[in-house]
Amino acid sequence: MRLSRLALRHFRNLGSQDLEFPPEGVALVGDNAQGKSNFLEAIYYLETFRSFRGARDEQLVSFGEEVFRVAGTAASGPLEQGRVAEVAAAFERKGRRKKVSVDGVEPERLGEALGRLAAVIFSPGDVDLVNGGPKERRRFLDMVLSLNEPGYLSALQEYKKILACRNASLKEGYSGSVVMAWNQGMIGSGAKVMWARKNWIEGGTQTFGDYYVRVSENARARMTYRPSVLSTGVNSVDEMSEAIRRALVDSSDRERRMGTTVVGPHRDDVRLHLERADDDLDLRDYGSGGQRRTAALALRLVEAWTIRERRSETPLILLDDVFAELDQGRSERVLELMEEEEPGQVVLTAPKEADVKVKKDELALWRISEGRITT
Ligand code: ATP
Ligand code: MG
Repeated sequence: MRLSRLALRHFRNLGSQDLEFPPEGVALVGDNAQGKSNFLEAIYYLETFRSFRGARDEQLVSFGEEVFRVAGTAASGPLEQGRVAEVAAAFERKGRRKKVSVDGVEPERLGEALGRLAAVIFSPGDVDLVNGGPKERRRFLDMVLSLNEPGYLSALQEYKKILACRNASLKEGYSGSVVMAWNQGMIGSGAKVMWARKNWIEGGTQTFGDYYVRVSENARARMTYRPSVLSTGVNSVDEMSEAIRRALVDSSDRERRMGTTVVGPHRDDVRLHLERADDDLDLRDYGSGGQRRTAALALRLVEAWTIRERRSETPLILLDDVFAELDQGRSERVLELMEEEEPGQVVLTAPKEADVKVKKDELALWRISEGRITT
C-alpha cells in the first residue's frame, strides 16, 4: 500500500494542505502539541473512518469550522502495481453527517469502504490494550477482524442489534419465551463472531510470541482466547453455536437475576501471558511497564502480519513517537524487526530529529509547527 497524496481540510489543527508523499515515507518532526498525532489520525481515519484515539468525529473538526474533509490517494496490490484509488471522508458537525467515498462514489454502506487503505498505527496509547479491561481488547479484535475477515462486521452488527433487544426484554422482566425468541439469531451471529476471534487468536499466537521474544530477548509470550462460553474442543462454527446454546441454557437463572445477557462475544477477553516453566504470568497483572509496551507492540505487529496474510497487502506503517519508552536494547530490536518485517511505506512522528530511528536515511524529513507542514 502506497499513499501518494493527502488532502486535508479543517481536520483538527491541520488547516488546509495538500501533500505529496515519497514512496518510502516521511518522518514528521515537531515540538509537542504541533499536530503530529493529528496528522497520523487524519491518515488512519481513511482506514476505519474513526479516530484511532477514540475521539468523536465532532472533535476532529477544526475549532470554528463546520466540516472536515480528508482525502488520500493510494496504490494497492503486489508491489503497489495494483489499483490506484482515492478514499475520502468528510464530516459535518451540525447535521452529524459522515460521508465516505471511494473514487468519488459513495458506497451503500460505510463498511464497504473500510480497510481500503491498509494501514497499521503504533502509538503510546497502545499499552491500554494490555493494561485496559476486556472491552479494550474486544475493540482491538473487532477492528482487526472487521478489516480482515469477510462477513465479520455484518455478523457483529447483527449480534449487537439482537443483543440490545434481548437485554431490553430481560430488563423489562419479560417471560422466558419472549427472551428466548432472540436466542436463535443471537446464536447464529454470535457464533460467527466468536469463531472468527478464536481462529485469529489461535492462528496468531505463534507469531505474537515470536515477535515478543525477538524484542524482549527473554521469555516468550502468548495470547489465548477467553470466551465466556465453554469452547474447548470447538472446531467449527456449528460447534460454536452449540456451545453458546448450552451456555445460554446454563446461565438462564443468572441472566434473569442480573437483567442482562451474561454469555456471548460481548463478554469475551484475550489473555496475554508470559510463558514460564511452572506457571504463566498474566501480563496485565504482573508485567513490567516495558513488558506491557512490548506486548502491545507485538499485537500491532500481528495486526500488520494479518493484513499481509489475509489481504496480500503490505500495510502502510504509522508510528506515533513509539520508541520513547523502551530501553535501548528493546528499541533497537524493534527497529531491526520493523526493517525486516515491514518493507512498506512508513510515516512516523518524533519530537526531535535525533529520535527518528526507523529507516532514517530513506525517509523524507518534514517539519510541523502549529499545524503547518513544511516538506
Ligand atoms: P505531542 O508531541 O505532545 O504528542 P502532537 O504534535 O502529537 O504533540 P497533537 O496531538 O497532534 O500534538 O495536536 C495537539 C494540538 O491540536 C493541540 O494544540 C490542540 O489544541 C490541537 N487541536 C486538537 N483538536 C483540535 C481541533 N478540533 N481544532 C483545532 N485544534 C485542535
Ligand atoms: Mg502526539
